[in-house]
Amino acid sequence: MDDKLLKKRIIKNIKVDTKKCAGCRACEMACSAFHAVPKYSSVNSGRSRIMVLIDEVRDMFVPIRAGEYTEAECNGRNTYIIDGKEYNECTFCPASCPSRDAFRDPDSGLPLKCDMCEDDPPVEKPMCVEACTFGALTYEEREVWEEVESAKHGEMEIGLKAMIKKHGLKKVMDTVARVSKS
Ligand code: SF4
Ligand code: SF4
Repeated sequence: MDDKLLKKRIIKNIKVDTKKCAGCRACEMACSAFHAVPKYSSVNSGRSRIMVLIDEVRDMFVPIRAGEYTEAECNGRNTYIIDGKEYNECTFCPASCPSRDAFRDPDSGLPLKCDMCEDDPPVEKPMCVEACTFGALTYEEREVWEEVESAKHGEMEIGLKAMIKKHGLKKVMDTVARVSKS
């Protein structure tokens, strides 16, 4: 019997068009206000989960959203010279890591990560997208279907785990072997 079910998942994304970014930093302010405690009680770009970088070589602004925290600092420390300006690999990296202060709460030092403004009730659009009047940020959603274990299968696992906890793995295995032969 097939114990798998198909479940819909929504993948959220924010598309960035650097050509439209004016470097106004409204996205940073909106993000920090939304995540302030209590909500909207303060505005501090240092607490934003989006950071607008200036790419001087191409003379453009690049908004970067905070990704996963990483313990391991990158092994590579290559630098790139473009039009006489030096860039290192960290410049446009979205991770919070021990090597730099980007995407860290300025008070606690804890890493910050974009949570797509998950809230209850859900917001219609992430705050940074709402705040960007230049159209540089576009919110996108797409549906994917994934195989998940059926509730029946999950219940069976919970029951087995409880039996193993109570009687021990060996006794449960012996019983299963005996019953399956009969
Ligand atoms: S609000 Fe929009 S235009 Fe302003 S810095 Fe952020 S992404 Fe760029
Ligand atoms: S989606 Fe929300 S949490 Fe993520 S950067 Fe934008 S405002 Fe901040």
